[in-house]
Amino acid sequence: MTTLEACRDVDQHEPLAPLRHLFDLPEGVIYLDGNSLGPLPKATAARVTDVVQREWGQGLIRSWNDAGWIDLPQRLGDQFAPWIGAKPGEVVFTDTTSVNLYKVLSAAIRLSQQEFSDPAPRTKVISERSNFPTDLYIAESLCKQHNLELVLIEPEELPTCLTTDVAVLLLSHVNYRTGHMHDMNQVTRDAHAQGVLTVWDLAHAAGAVPVDLNAANADYAVGCSYKYLNGGPGAPAFVWVHARHTDKFWQPLSGWFGHAEQFAFNSDYQPAPGIRRYMCGTQPMIALSALQCGLDIFSEAEKYGGMTALRRKSVALTDLFIELVETRCAGYGLGLATPRDIFARGSQVCLTRDDGAGVDGQGSGAYAIVQALIARGVIGDFRKGDGGNGPHKDILRFGFTPLYTRFEDVWNAVEHLRQVLESGEWQKPEFNRINAVT
Ligand SMILES: *Cc1c(COP(=O)(O)O)cnc(C)c1O
Repeated sequence: MTTLEACRDVDQHEPLAPLRHLFDLPEGVIYLDGNSLGPLPKATAARVTDVVQREWGQGLIRSWNDAGWIDLPQRLGDQFAPWIGAKPGEVVFTDTTSVNLYKVLSAAIRLSQQEFSDPAPRTKVISERSNFPTDLYIAESLCKQHNLELVLIEPEELPTCLTTDVAVLLLSHVNYRTGHMHDMNQVTRDAHAQGVLTVWDLAHAAGAVPVDLNAANADYAVGCSYKYLNGGPGAPAFVWVHARHTDKFWQPLSGWFGHAEQFAFNSDYQPAPGIRRYMCGTQPMIALSALQCGLDIFSEAEKYGGMTALRRKSVALTDLFIELVETRCAGYGLGLATPRDIFARGSQVCLTRDDGAGVDGQGSGAYAIVQALIARGVIGDFRKGDGGNGPHKDILRFGFTPLYTRFEDVWNAVEHLRQVLESGEWQKPEFNRINAVT
């Protein structure tokens, strides 16, 4: 696909093409940031209006029963479960990824302490230095509470860091800043061989790459629904626990929505059987209803080949982007932070910039290049590196979502990038002012 025409030709015939029309994508925008905030499904506005006007406005409190509000978090969990290799009754959409991580990491730490009669105590939780910060902050807090050491590693240090003094391994399946994807089956096997429990964050994996939690024999997982699942800003996240662990421990945020007999109004806590105990307080019905419209698109995608088709297109899109950047933007100091190996790559491509010149001390220029692209309607994002204090460089990040991204979009995005670099327009002062959200 070395011409725009060739890309357009592929777009005409590829099996997922009909799904793009289910999204309300603004004119003149090439959206390569669905890994950060998925776009608006066309069905969402009407659904939210109906929930507000009919279910809430007319149904009032009766809608907890009549509109099925009370079990919506589990119904959505069951609807999405096959996409992450989970069974019905194993997934619930609730709270945020950060909060759910707190619940499952607490459970994993407790379970590790109860379950194994280890000769020596397990004193460590392991994660990656480049894991998403909120995951590390939650882990840091729990390690303080439980008197454990949080050890941060680079991916190459797996599996040598997995030793019998480790309680839990906390990893993102796909890394947010590099797009590197772990082999979940292999890593989980290596961890279990040392009696280490695994907690997987699927924020950049769910709906983006094939995930089979039960086949991997994973222990706990959480994930985000406003990224690849297109549930809307701040949409409720999900939590999964392997059936062998679910009933062993009640997670620490023991609220009434996780109670076995919620409306018995008992003064003591009895955890509900199964995944329901991972809920805490009253669930956000308007947000969950919006999320359902995002999940419905995945149900629709089943008709067009499901995850096999999504993954095939995702790999083709990321391959094409890499190839075009390397051929058409050569000589401008761009580097590739994402693995070339498709078995180690998520659905995003991250570029570095090593020029070092920048403007007004802005370093790599990566931020300004992203801003110049956004001004042209090509929306990706920038993730800050460690400013030379460690191995992480500034990143230009582009997400490729096969539900709506076309090969034509890849071609045009790279052409804009080439023009931004060639003209030097990224050096304009307006592209070098740092916004609150990057
Ligand atoms: C996006 C993301 C989150 C977001 O957590 P919130 O609680 O929704 O803010 C967490 N972890 C990872 C790995 C992410 O990519």
